[in-house]
Amino acid sequence: MTIPQALPLCIDLHCHSTASDGALSPRALLERASEMGVTHLAVTDHDTLAGLAEARDAAHQLGVALINGVELSCVWRSHTIHIVGLDFDHQDVRFLAALDGQHENRWRRARTIAGKLSRRNPDALLALATAHAGDDVPGRPHFARALVEQGVVKDINQAFKRHLGAGKPGDVKAFWPELDEVVRWLVEAGGIAVLAHPKKYRLTATKLRQLVADFRRAGGQALEVSTSGQTATDMAFLAELCKKENLWASQGSDFHFPGAAWSELGRISKLPDGLAPVWHYFRQPIAATGDQSGA
Ligand code: MN
Ligand code: MN
Ligand code: MN
Repeated sequence: MTIPQALPLCIDLHCHSTASDGALSPRALLERASEMGVTHLAVTDHDTLAGLAEARDAAHQLGVALINGVELSCVWRSHTIHIVGLDFDHQDVRFLAALDGQHENRWRRARTIAGKLSRRNPDALLALATAHAGDDVPGRPHFARALVEQGVVKDINQAFKRHLGAGKPGDVKAFWPELDEVVRWLVEAGGIAVLAHPKKYRLTATKLRQLVADFRRAGGQALEVSTSGQTATDMAFLAELCKKENLWASQGSDFHFPGAAWSELGRISKLPDGLAPVWHYFRQPIAATGDQSGA
């Protein structure tokens, strides 16, 4: 007789599917997660829950626990900031309406870019860019490809240099809501707001501390302490900040596509000791013993 052994936990709370800018369909993403030994996954597509139904079906079949997830864009003092939302009610009507608004914000920006780059026929340019965007709303890289196709520029580089790079007409800022508002959406939908990849915004230590303090005041509950492509020094800094602000700690690979050695599903450095893992505070908490990141 064999005694069944508990699988080590492998928790990844940040990744993307084709519902936003990821390369794998929600089903393929769950299959890869399962192969990588991930036991608990949150699929956190940018500003949409469109991948969650397929992800849930696949997760159920594969025996992976799926946690509701999303990654919301917002603005804090003119910086674009990402908030990962976890374990919310995905049927909350007001939350779904807010997400529709985020989606419309993306399209409004896409239409603005098209209008700035083509006064003669913005609709044709938008259609070309949209064709390159897959299921996503077209952004600057898609417009760059469209401009190449139209023969306006000879390559992507030139498209950015002349039309889409910083300070050029196609460099249209996104129309995102304020940080406080986005955090409130998540909290009111019963979810947990996590400040995503805090070191990616390239803020000074002072500014980052201000951001985290404002995030906490707004009702934010957790900091993504462990993420891909981060140094040990960065993680130590974030762990300290997390303790000082009395926030829970999250971890996620921010996986977008296979083949990137710096970012793979479930391959995340273990959270430093002394932090409160965010998954202990889910509606159905993940067991506190035997936590393991899989790294
Ligand atoms: Mn992304
Ligand atoms: Mn992000
Ligand atoms: Mn992400």
